[in-house]
Amino acid sequence: APFPIVLSGPVQHGFGRGGKDLGCPTANLPDESITPLSSVTEPGVYYGFAQVDSCDPEDNEVYPMVMSLGWNPFYRNERLTAEIHLLHRFKSDFYGRDMKAVVLGYIRPELDYTSREALIEDIQTDIRVAERCLRRPAYQRYSSECQWTP
Ligand code: ADP
Ligand code: MG
Repeated sequence: APFPIVLSGPVQHGFGRGGKDLGCPTANLPDESITPLSSVTEPGVYYGFAQVDSCDPEDNEVYPMVMSLGWNPFYRNERLTAEIHLLHRFKSDFYGRDMKAVVLGYIRPELDYTSREALIEDIQTDIRVAERCLRRPAYQRYSSECQWTP
């Protein structure tokens, strides 16, 4: 896919598929905002950076993220959903806030899990992969939001 791909929109409520229960809250982008990605790529897990438009300066920074682009069971698997887990401990939830993301690379395809433990383990691996990939010098320019649009 032609990375970088920039996405943005207000954070939506998900369908309680247990992001927080798994220790991995995922901020959902609105369906309309994901076409720049879903029109050029397949479902799977991606890495990049994201920023939330928060009034708290500490929560307002650009953070590494992992993103899942997946078929949504709520829509009988006819629609793709993009959910972003930012690698930062936020002071509070940020539903309704504008979120911007730059997607820089692909980690793995969407997989089915037979156990919660297997899923949690894979998410931890995705996070480590993203952290290492994003350390590449060529990606440092994206750690500032104003560099995302050419
Ligand atoms: P939902 O099903 O509504 O998406 P989640 O359990 O996935 O619920 O939690 C997502 C929400 O958690 C986000 O919309 C955001 O407000 C909050 N949140 C807190 N910390 C983070 C984080 N590090 N990454 C993503 N979302 C976070
Ligand atoms: Mg979520």
